[in-house]
Amino acid sequence: MGKDEPARGSGGEQIRRREADLAEPGVRWDYAPARESREIVRLRERYDLFVGGRWLEPKTERTFTTIDPATEEPLAEVAEAGEEDVDLAVRAAAEAWEARWRDLPGRERAKYLYRIARALQERSREFAVLETLNNGKPIKESRDVDVPLAAAHFFYYAGWADKLEYAFPGRRPRPLGVAAQITPWNFPLLMCAWKLAPALATGNTAVLKPASTTPLTALLLAEVIQEADLPPGVVNVITGPGGRTGGWLAAHPAVAKVAFTGSTEIGKVLRRSLAGSGKRLTLELGGKAANIIFEDAPIDQAIEGIVNGIFFNQGEVCCAGSRLFVQESVAELVIAKLKARLSTLRVGDPLDKNTDIGAINNRAQLAKIQELVRSGIEEGAEIYQPECELPERGFWFRPTLFTNVAMSHRIAREEIFGPVLSILTFRTPEEAVEKANNTEYGLSAGIWTEKGSRILWMAERMKAGVVWANTFNRFDPSSPFGGYKESGFGREGGRHGLEPYLDLDGGAA
Ligand code: NAD
Ligand code: MN
Repeated sequence: MGKDEPARGSGGEQIRRREADLAEPGVRWDYAPARESREIVRLRERYDLFVGGRWLEPKTERTFTTIDPATEEPLAEVAEAGEEDVDLAVRAAAEAWEARWRDLPGRERAKYLYRIARALQERSREFAVLETLNNGKPIKESRDVDVPLAAAHFFYYAGWADKLEYAFPGRRPRPLGVAAQITPWNFPLLMCAWKLAPALATGNTAVLKPASTTPLTALLLAEVIQEADLPPGVVNVITGPGGRTGGWLAAHPAVAKVAFTGSTEIGKVLRRSLAGSGKRLTLELGGKAANIIFEDAPIDQAIEGIVNGIFFNQGEVCCAGSRLFVQESVAELVIAKLKARLSTLRVGDPLDKNTDIGAINNRAQLAKIQELVRSGIEEGAEIYQPECELPERGFWFRPTLFTNVAMSHRIAREEIFGPVLSILTFRTPEEAVEKANNTEYGLSAGIWTEKGSRILWMAERMKAGVVWANTFNRFDPSSPFGGYKESGFGREGGRHGLEPYLDLDGGAA
């Protein structure tokens, strides 16, 4: 018997055998779903408008159905606000501003913001499940990202409410009045927090209109606001179709400021319709962000960042890293690693705690994704989609990669707003900058390299509101967020996020 040869059946051999078993690629660990229960959500059959601190039946007497995009099952009926209802809401906000809110000391306003923040934490599980039901996003995202960040936003801006003169030394910060706030369906609750927290902290009142496909967490937030005992009319939530309800709201003469997050197309509509109105406007629109990976990058970390950058929230993210620029020398390696990683992503039931990719929010969005993906194939790019089963009902799209993409392809230029990554290559940092900036958008960018000097060199040249280095989709209420070019203007978050809600030169009211 040789020295290295253990006796048959010895402990050494058993250990070696076990290691061999584990290394075998055929070994499969059974998938055990861990489903969050929807019991915690007490859906009402019908939701009215929240106006002047009360729930108000719409004058239109009309409702629309809001559904669960993962099953297409109806969740509730929601009021459709007409022109008269919009007027009531704006007047309630104007009265609350004049009678109470604008003269309330900052520390008193802060108390209400802290109350809202704490209520969001206390009811976080309910908010997370409701968000997932109405939006289709994975529960682990609504639970770990949307809801905690929404609470963090209220906490953060509560802290500014009594310190505005320190935010703008030597100036006289005054609120504007009634803010009309129009939010999108991709982060329904979080976008309400981004809008309401700075508006209230600076002494404005608000009329908020959530997106028509995802009104439920905004309405639950209204309930929280009612329980927090905010003076009636300080926050009003009205629901209805964008073109009508949103249009009337933005156009109302008693509105001093319009804050909009949504499509570039509607952003342009608002820009035109409000020109010359004297209203303040901020727009947070679309994007086509570049993730740029250099050959010296920490590759495995970068793969995770790129996957998160485009598949987080099904890619329905304005700052999604939807264009990947890989340095040519590592392109083959990066693409192979990305494909392997894609096949591990779990697509399906958004309430399953293991789900990575949930449902697309609405049928129109799914159709838009499908159309752009078809254009990619037709224009000659090469598609890769891992095989996976999709539920029969609901709106679903597999995680998708495109290689052989040219800068002229629609999938390299247009916002897809879905789980679709377009991969392009570059040779030099100059070429990376040139290609990454060659877009109508300018919201965000990601740079992956070990070289600190290169990060600074790149960041200075990227025409993007946010530049992440060796990370992506990282949000903090203290960091300003916003775009260049067709991605909009104005900043949300941080001290900068106070500015759009303030008159700093002493004129207002
Ligand atoms: P949208 O711009 O139509 O909707 C955004 C919000 O604006 C919603 O509350 C909507 O009801 C409201 N709205 C619509 N038309 C309006 C009008 N004329 N006046 C006032 N308010 C109006 O977005 P959408 O149609 O839901 O999505 C279309 C595309 O927009 C998506 O495919 C995506 O590319 C982009 N999008 C971007 C964001 C973002 O965060 N930047 C969010 C959602 C959608
Ligand atoms: Mn639209």
